[in-house]
Amino acid sequence: MTGICPDCGRSWDDVRRGGRLGCPSCWDAFRQELSEVVTGMHGSDRQPGEEDLQTQIHQRKRKLLEEDLRSALASEDYVRAGQLRDLLRAEGEPS
Ligand SMILES: [Zn+2]
Repeated sequence: MTGICPDCGRSWDDVRRGGRLGCPSCWDAFRQELSEVVTGMHGSDRQPGEEDLQTQIHQRKRKLLEEDLRSALASEDYVRAGQLRDLLRAEGEPS
């Protein structure tokens, strides 16, 4: 079951082929698929617990947000850079 991101209109296939998410809303639109990708990174001999999975998604999300922020700054897209910075700040706060 794959959907379409309501914000940027990308499908999961688009995201997977492109190797990156179209926008921060993709995280919510493709949560299930992203979970499977993160789990797959560890091979089949290990079953990560829910907590491990959340940590891995969290770290991967941060990394992608940082990459997006760099590219937004490089293209002088300061509106997007500001949004990404806010998202990063939210991700970085301890619960
Ligand atoms: Zn999107």
